[in-house]
Amino acid sequence: MTSGCITVLNAGSSSIKFGLYEEGTGGNLLFRGQIERIGSAAHLKATNSEGRSVAERSWPKGELDHHGATLEIVRLARELLAGRPVLAVGHRVVHGGTDFSSPVRINSDVLAKLAKLVPLAPLHQPHNLAPIEAIAKAAPQIPQVACFDTAFHRTQPALAQEFALPRDLTAAGVRRYGFHGLSYDYVISRLQEIQPALARSRLIVAHLGNGASLCAVHEGRSVASTMGFTAVDGLMMGTRTGALDPGVLLYLMQERGMDAQAIEDLLYRKSGLLGVSGLSSDMRTLRQSETPSAKAAIALFVYRIVREIGSLTAALGGLDGLVFTAGIGENDAATRSEVAAGCAWLGLALNEESNGLGAGQISSDQSRIAAWVVPTDEERVIARYTSASLSS
Ligand code: ADP
Repeated sequence: MTSGCITVLNAGSSSIKFGLYEEGTGGNLLFRGQIERIGSAAHLKATNSEGRSVAERSWPKGELDHHGATLEIVRLARELLAGRPVLAVGHRVVHGGTDFSSPVRINSDVLAKLAKLVPLAPLHQPHNLAPIEAIAKAAPQIPQVACFDTAFHRTQPALAQEFALPRDLTAAGVRRYGFHGLSYDYVISRLQEIQPALARSRLIVAHLGNGASLCAVHEGRSVASTMGFTAVDGLMMGTRTGALDPGVLLYLMQERGMDAQAIEDLLYRKSGLLGVSGLSSDMRTLRQSETPSAKAAIALFVYRIVREIGSLTAALGGLDGLVFTAGIGENDAATRSEVAAGCAWLGLALNEESNGLGAGQISSDQSRIAAWVVPTDEERVIARYTSASLSS
């Protein structure tokens, strides 16, 4: 008998990534791919588990929206799986609000609740919900599961989730949620397999990609994180500011006449590594550049990480381990080395040879803090939860 499969969809503003997995919590990846540039000249690429190309296609400008792209992925999945049934579809959903602290089977009530959270994540939530709606219409018999970026952080103490705002605003949902939760969840589950004692200790996980955040974790549970109400808070990122004195926003409105749209554009798309360097949001480009502005951008990126590590160490009451993940965290030895140098006061020292290799333990034998590189895999954690929901 051929076993069933799980489809995972991770929809962003202009792309939908997908993965096809065998059923089961340890199910193998069979195919993965993405449709990029949705809304402009969309392009699909898919590979098998060995990374060999199995499909590639382009669409004329403006022909494919999120709905159409989802149906193309469903069609391709059927073709690639050649008769093996899709048992369920798991989705990455950025915001689960305070209601959802774990993955949930989607029905019309759940979907209505998730739609109500759109104002809290207007740049992400609508794109996450579009494929759910498309599949509910095209194949209503297939169970769908939402996995949330906020859910991992619901274990944080109440204090860590609050702003110093009047109570009615907190009650209305203006609070710290935290994001990148699926990545943290995966990294901690991986550590539990390879370093169970370390996984229970006081950790900071540094998810450093285009989006970047830190999470303080104790006993495998989130205690605090650098992202708050939105995914623009905390660390400096590829194109996002990270934490900013709110007085800057008042200045921009009152003195520069900027409206909400212009400020959103500045905070989310024109700042961070791109804004400071004036060159690129891409760490590889900045590392290759000799310009002072590229060096200044990297220096600020590292400085902000080091400062926030200090803050999260206080929230944890001490630190036993630092774990790097995501594009920069996994691949940029220089960033890891510079962050570690800023954390020497904590007793952190890297073994530079291991750091250069970039996988597994990278701290030296003398280091008081363990340092590791653990590659993240958000799609796999979604596949795992989706599979588990079928048997629950
Ligand atoms: P996203 O948040 O979009 O998923 P990623 O986790 O893929 O982002 O991270 C993208 C970042 O990782 C970019 O800044 C990119 O330059 C950086 N990166 C990827 N590979 C390398 C590498 N080999 N060396 C340095 N930086 C890298």
